[in-house]
Parts: sequence; C-alpha cells; structure tokens
Amino acid sequence: MPGYVGRVLRVDLSSGRIATEEPPDNFYRMYFGGEGLVAFYLLREVPPRVDALSPDNVLVFAAGPLTGVPVGGCGRHSVGGKSPLTGAFGEGEAGGYWGAELKFSGFDAIVVQGKAEKPVYLLIRDGQAEIKDARHLWGLKTLECQEAIRGELGDPDVKVAQIGPAGERLVRFACVVNDLDAFAGRTGLGAVMGSKNLKAIACRGHRRVPLADSQAVASIAHWVRDNTPANNQDIRDLGTASSVRSLSRRGGLPTRNFQAGFFEGAGRISGEAMRDTISTGNRRSCYACPVQCKREVKVEDPYQVDPRYGGPEYETIASLGSNCGIDDLKAIAKGGEMANAYGLDTISTGSAIAFAMECFERGLISSRDTGGLELRFGNSRAMMEMVERIALRQGLGDLLAEGVARAAKKLGPPARELALHIKGQEVPMHEPRYKQGLGLGYIMSPTGADHCHNMHDSNFTGKSAYLEDMKALGILDPLPLTDLSPAKVRLLIYYTFWQHFMNCAVTCYFVIVYGLVGFDRVAELVRAVTGWNTSVWELMKVGERALNMALAFNRREGFSPADDVLPRRFFTPHPSGPLQGVTIEERAFLEARETYYQMIGWPGGNPSPARLEELGIDWVVPMIERK
Ligand code: SF4
Repeated sequence: MPGYVGRVLRVDLSSGRIATEEPPDNFYRMYFGGEGLVAFYLLREVPPRVDALSPDNVLVFAAGPLTGVPVGGCGRHSVGGKSPLTGAFGEGEAGGYWGAELKFSGFDAIVVQGKAEKPVYLLIRDGQAEIKDARHLWGLKTLECQEAIRGELGDPDVKVAQIGPAGERLVRFACVVNDLDAFAGRTGLGAVMGSKNLKAIACRGHRRVPLADSQAVASIAHWVRDNTPANNQDIRDLGTASSVRSLSRRGGLPTRNFQAGFFEGAGRISGEAMRDTISTGNRRSCYACPVQCKREVKVEDPYQVDPRYGGPEYETIASLGSNCGIDDLKAIAKGGEMANAYGLDTISTGSAIAFAMECFERGLISSRDTGGLELRFGNSRAMMEMVERIALRQGLGDLLAEGVARAAKKLGPPARELALHIKGQEVPMHEPRYKQGLGLGYIMSPTGADHCHNMHDSNFTGKSAYLEDMKALGILDPLPLTDLSPAKVRLLIYYTFWQHFMNCAVTCYFVIVYGLVGFDRVAELVRAVTGWNTSVWELMKVGERALNMALAFNRREGFSPADDVLPRRFFTPHPSGPLQGVTIEERAFLEARETYYQMIGWPGGNPSPARLEELGIDWVVPMIERK
C-alpha cells in the first residue's frame, strides 16, 4: 500500500503484550493518519469519562501517508490521548525526525494501553518492538536521556521521543519531546506518557516509504525545494520570532497576561535581536525541510544555554517574554531551554507564570505563597525559577503544574478572571481581540485554545497570496480582522477543515501553507504518494471527518456548548496601545458561534446524526446518543 507501511503497533504496558495490526486500505483512506487515527482510537478504545491519567487512557503516536516522504514539510507526526489538562480530546503534532523514523522502522502508528509496573521504554527497530527497562533513565532530563539511550544501543542515529521530569511528575501540560527541539507540546500528553511509566520510544529503521509514482513525487519535491524558502523569507531569515516586532506594533503581542498587546521591550526579544545577539548562526530543521525555520542559540553568561536544545520559537518568546513582561532575551532562552530539558509546554508554562504574576501583583498570592519570590511582571529570575518549580512540582509550582484553570479554582473567584484558558488549556500567544476569527477558532477547537489548526485573520485582510490560494475553495473577498460575519465563519470553517486534513497527512504549516504549495499540488502529492485517485474535495472531507470525531469525543466526555466560551478578558478593550478601545463584541461573537454550529451541521452545538452519517462515521452516532 504506497504511502503507508500498513502496520499499526499495539502495546499493552500492563501485560507486556505487543501485537501488530494490518488495517485495510479503506481504513487508511477514511482516517488517513495523524489526528484522524488519534480520533479513531480515542473514540473506540478510551472508556467514556475515564481519568486521563489512569491506565485506561490510550496514547497514540501516528504518522500520516506523507510522513517520511522525501518532500519538504513531510516529517511530522501526531501524538494523542485524552488530555489530563482539559479532560477533552488531546492531540499535538511535532516536527523533527522521529515521525519519519517511525515509518522507516516499520509502523504507521503505535497505540499504547495500560501502565507498566516500573519505568520502561519502547524500542522499535526494523519492524520489531520490545519493551525495555528504563529505571536508570527515570529522572533524567531530555538531553541526558537521549544520549543514554543512544549510548546503550550503540547507535547515534536512533530517534527518541520522550518525556522529561515534568511528564514523570504528571505536570498537566508536560509535553512529548523528540529530537530535543521538536514537541507534541499541547494538552499534556507528556503526563499521559508519565502516567503509563513510559519514559521514551526509540525508533530506528531502514525501510523507505513506498511511493506509487516516485517521479511525480520527485518533481513536487523539487518545486517545494525551489519555491517554499522564498515564500517564507521572513521565517527562513529570522525564524518564527520574525513576527514579534510587527505583532507588537499592531497590538497583537500578548503582554502581561494579555492585559496589553503592545510590548515596549519587543525589539529586545525579537527575531532580529536573537540574530544579532545569542544566535549561533546555525539553522535547524525537520526531516527533508528546505525552509529550516528553527534557530539555535548559545548563552554563556550570566547562565549557560545549551545549543543542543535549539532556540526559542515565537510562542516561547511571547509566553516567557512579553506575556511575563520580560525583555531579557537570554533569560527567555534559558527558560525555554529548561522547559525543553524538563519536557514542559512553553505556552502553558509561560501562561501559568504570567497568571501567577498577575495574581501576585493584585495581592491574590503573596511572597509567603511564592517562598519569598517577588513574582512580578518583568522579573526574569523569578520566571526562570518558576519554570523549574513547575517542572518539579515544588511549592507554588505544584499548584501551577495543574494548569491555570485548576489553580484559579483553588485560589478563588477573583483569580478566575485572570486565568486565560479555553476548556482548561491556556491561550496561545495570539491575541483574539486582534484576530477575532481566530478567537472563534479558539473556542471551537476540540483541544481547547489552539493556534495551529486555527485561521489567522491577518492573512486575509487584503490582497494576499493566501487569499489567492483560498479562491480555489470559493473564498473570494478579503475580510477585516474584527469581522465576525457569516463570511468570516465560512472562511474559518473551510480553512480549518484543511488544517485538520494537514494534521492527518501530517505536514508542516509553514512549508505547505506559508510556502504556497497550494491545494491542488497537495492533492497531486497525495495521489503520487498513495496511488489513490483523490481530490481536494476528498482531502477536505478527511479534515472535516477528523474534526467531527474529535468534537464528538468531547460531547461524549460531557462537554457542551457552555464550554465553547472565551475568557471575559477578551470582551474588554486594551486600556492603551494600538488596540486601545478594540474589543470583541459579545453579541456578534455569540451569533458567529451559532452560525458556526449551523454551518458545520451541529444545530444547537451538538452533532446531528445526519452530519456524522454524511461523513461516513455512522458508528459515532450511538456514542453521542448514549451520552
Ligand atoms: S518550516 Fe520549520 S517547523 Fe516546518 S518542517 Fe521546516 S524546520 Fe520544521
């Protein structure tokens, strides 16, 4: 079966049983890979209302048909499970090299169940899998753990996906780290891995992805190599931090726990500042990628930042930087390096610290709670200290490790106003008052606030290459940033169906979308890889199906439209700065939410059987009805 290995690895850590399944062709064509496979296994195999940290939760690692194909942007994989942070559908995609190696080693996906009695790791080599003792690895940071595994296997090319000490301690936003600088960052899947006593999955293999038409694949690979770097000039030159200054100028850079969108220190933490100060000059990359957006930084004074952990991305710079009022780039790099070493999601970590800083400044917590730390905005030492305390669950860090929603519940009602989350997941570093369609995307995401499978309004406000691309889907006119009309809802829906397809495929947003590969060329690539006579329409349906399955999972778990809400802060304007006076108009927002439900066939916010049947997933209907 071109594009796929045709084998799914099943691992039961409670019994130690390992098995292989060989799903049929149509299974792959329906659920595709990545997010689609995660949604399938979660709906089928996670018992309703189960505790996300119990052995009954299921952890899925899934590549897609394009993972490991030698084309730029085709090196990603998904990790999924019920989220311990939200209690909802948990999923994240990671770049790096691990996903491609999973397929080279002989599997499209791994489904992990149960819990090992003692720490273990899973070794997959050329189609064989074994569970190995990991007691000597437990407690190690990610660099040491990767080195130890490679050392004991005598193979420096083994690719390792793993948790750090934060995942071992069940920090609810611990991530899964692969290749030291790539992360299935969100929804706390590192804690699920920790709850199963699974320290790492190491892969090594020598098979290549079978291709239906290798000449056609090579021709698309050449196009991607020759065009996508130029179409991504900013992030190629400066990394994802290229947007820090421009976002701040427009009022869209989250600052001091989203109290403002303009940060006076933006220039000091920008991509340009990183290039001119702490960058080693080395670009880092994922499998087969010509864009190479990842940076590498090195700091030696006043503390050391190890370049082997890469460098901070935009989300890290904003969450540990501007959102904590910090303009010290070295400190941000150190905080990011520590998060990578401990295995923490930097978005939720920075958000939790910013939340605590605002609580401190408003007198809701005191230096008695912080162990003497002056936890104020701008205190970079306190930020770095808190990263470690969260990872190790020390003092106030233990409370913040539960996520801002649970922490605010414990601190009382005034703190709830300061806890910026959706369904329990901390808001990423994109200001919904600035991009209001994205705000709607936040509440409709099955994983809680998410910026990856979302739509960024700023790409569609005027004549742009992105809008030109969308014309192929019938989106013809630009729309203002603050527009929440049915036309914006339609744009959000079409765009996010495609994003969810890309999470099934599993491909990189920067290469495919910002690189302007285009819908038709992607469909051509899927045809050339799989041999299926597919179309953009079928691929959009793949994305829509995966989204509906994820949303249905949430309804099965007890989520309702009452959970599809934005924090109150976003309905009040910034007091000053470029967005002074701009707010989300609540009535328009609620109307847009209703329009969204109707457009996707979820009247009243709940899936209609007809919608699920139209998507070919009628087996999901009884799950919703039972609920
Ligand atoms: S653009 Fe960046 S994130 Fe995407 S594949 Fe390339 S290096 Fe990885």
